[in-house]
Amino acid sequence: MFKKILIANRGEIAVRIIKTCRKMGISTVQVFSEADAGSLAVEMADESVLIGPAPAAQSYLLADRIIEAVRQTGAEAVHPGFGFLSENAGFARRLRDEGIAFIGPNPEAIEAMGDKITSKKFAAEAGVSTVPGHMGLIETPEEAVKIAREIGYPVMIKASAGGGGKGIRVAEGDADMAEGFAAVKAEAMAAFGDDRVFLEKFIVDPRHIEIQVLGDKHGAVVHLFERECSIQRRNQKVIEEAPSPLLDEKTRMEMGAQAVALARAVNYDSAGTVEFVAGQDKSFYFLEMNTRLQVEHPVTELITGVDLVEQMIRSAWGEKLAFAQKDLKIDGWAIESRIYAEDPYRGFLPSIGRLVRYEQPEEGERDGYVVRNDSGVREGDEISMFYDPMIAKLCAWAPTRDAAIDGMARALEDTHLTGLGHNVPFLAAVMEQDRFRSGKLSTSYIKDEFPDGFHGLAPDRRRKDVMIAAAVAMNEIISEQAEDPSDRTDWIVLIDREAHGVSLGYDDEEALTLELAGEDRSLRLSDIEWRPGLGQFRAVLDDVPFTADVARVPDGFTIRSGAARARVRVLTPRVAELYARLPEKQAADTSKLVLSPMPGLVVSVPVEVGQEVKAGETVAIIEAMKMQNILKAERDGTVKAVGARAGDPVAADDVLVEFA
Ligand code: ADP
Ligand code: ADP
Ligand code: MG
Repeated sequence: MFKKILIANRGEIAVRIIKTCRKMGISTVQVFSEADAGSLAVEMADESVLIGPAPAAQSYLLADRIIEAVRQTGAEAVHPGFGFLSENAGFARRLRDEGIAFIGPNPEAIEAMGDKITSKKFAAEAGVSTVPGHMGLIETPEEAVKIAREIGYPVMIKASAGGGGKGIRVAEGDADMAEGFAAVKAEAMAAFGDDRVFLEKFIVDPRHIEIQVLGDKHGAVVHLFERECSIQRRNQKVIEEAPSPLLDEKTRMEMGAQAVALARAVNYDSAGTVEFVAGQDKSFYFLEMNTRLQVEHPVTELITGVDLVEQMIRSAWGEKLAFAQKDLKIDGWAIESRIYAEDPYRGFLPSIGRLVRYEQPEEGERDGYVVRNDSGVREGDEISMFYDPMIAKLCAWAPTRDAAIDGMARALEDTHLTGLGHNVPFLAAVMEQDRFRSGKLSTSYIKDEFPDGFHGLAPDRRRKDVMIAAAVAMNEIISEQAEDPSDRTDWIVLIDREAHGVSLGYDDEEALTLELAGEDRSLRLSDIEWRPGLGQFRAVLDDVPFTADVARVPDGFTIRSGAARARVRVLTPRVAELYARLPEKQAADTSKLVLSPMPGLVVSVPVEVGQEVKAGETVAIIEAMKMQNILKAERDGTVKAVGARAGDPVAADDVLVEFA
């Protein structure tokens, strides 16, 4: 077996690969950019090599630097992880030429599956069912319109080189097609340096179901069943699970057989994924093959017990697959949530920053479920604007889907991040939705269920009780530390503007009893974990443990419990009465301001004080997380002040431009 492996990646996937290497007794070399010098992966690896500055194009994407690091450390193989060089046939070939093992498939297989047009042709030849459409390249908008009419609208316009949900657009009619065709071509050129575009039928209300395959260098190929990844935002996966709630055994075996046939057709000899779109009627069509480890591979590992990274390493070394198809079985159900540094309350804008507090549930067996957490960061680390904003992949396994959902909900409740915006409340909301539980999934799920974006879910009875209990208990704790503690027992708790009367008592000093709407609830004092300044409140309400994110604000708290968030005030009945008479507070008038929608770097502010600006004109460009945000004037006006200049770092809501 290899003695030393170099990991040409970063973050959570690098950590993931190091864990398997350790288990196998293989030592590791971690390459890193200047931004990652203090990262967990670098700390965990046996050796590390600096390969360049923060931008990936000057570090993680530089084959030369990586090969140099291999030479310098005497590593025998390279694991590319996903993204970066993982699907770069040229890189795999160079390693082969230099006598270094690539822990992935052979370069010919990467090439064959490397772009969507070629891979679709291979798939059709291998007898795999493909999305009806046009197999060739399309050159002009006129040709696109003609072919789209033949296919029949709606039609999907796709960049052949596309990936990560980029370079994809739906056209409903001729006008969309002409416009979309040009847009996809331009986007593909900018993102992939390749503007080849093709068309295929848009499958309405589809599900994304993919098959994990595994091959060795001796011609053996097996599949490890499916994953369903239908919960997507802008064609990017957010929540994945295995198995799929849609498939029956017959369809599963048909999909598996087609995926294996395709893998065999290209002599596939590593872990890979064959992606399909499926209709609600279980019809399915090939989308693309990803010739690498997939982000969501942990759910497959959880239901099969197979370590996919270990299998990739073994097959790269030349070992034969140690098991056959008949040895593989599905055990239980697993769900993965991708935790991203993005703010769901602000249209999921990137929200980078330092993880001031970072708490995640411990891995391992719990009450009826198992937690796995693939993370690459620690408390105090920074999620920078240079790379993918994924913080961690949180997984829950249980014997049944229902129990796995419950486990995920609990694991999310035990996840606390402060210092940046994150999508945990959003993930929690999906776990709470009946539709998700019913398994009626579709790639339009998020659009259907959150048509106006995410604003949190309204608190149900239990969540309200949790908010009231936490607020009253925190109020008591704060009061006890005051010089003149209050011994008041009757309070009004406002959840946003909704009033709840609470009577407090102490039974034998052990528990705080709350009388809420005529019912007694109890909160044992010894279970409370909170002190002023802490962002999480943990306690047990009527024997059920809970954790809530809390923050003190003038005369109260904001409390988030699961997907519900509210301003909670603990008031005397007299003050509550005054509150009730106050008019709803008007939000400040921001109509004349252009505010930064996210923390980032100002690229430019191309306007000056006194300048007349027309609606639609660009007034500022902000960059964060490799994404440029162009801010335009909403109406005609005159610039009164400019709040930031090119190169300035800005926080969310900083004023960039003010109009007179
Ligand atoms: P998955 O199905 O594993 O989510 P994705 O296509 O979404 O596959 O991409 C997986 C990873 O690879 C993500 O981190 C994504 O950002 C990255 N990635 C995918 N395609 C590209 C690309 N063309 N260029 C850079 N990164 C990419
Ligand atoms: P990427 O390389 O970006 O992952 P894919 O071809 O895998 O591109 O497509 C990404 C997503 O777009 C799929 O998971 C699916 O949700 C949607 N999609 C792709 N092709 C179709 C299609 N023909 N009909 C409907 N949805 C599609
Ligand atoms: Mg895909």
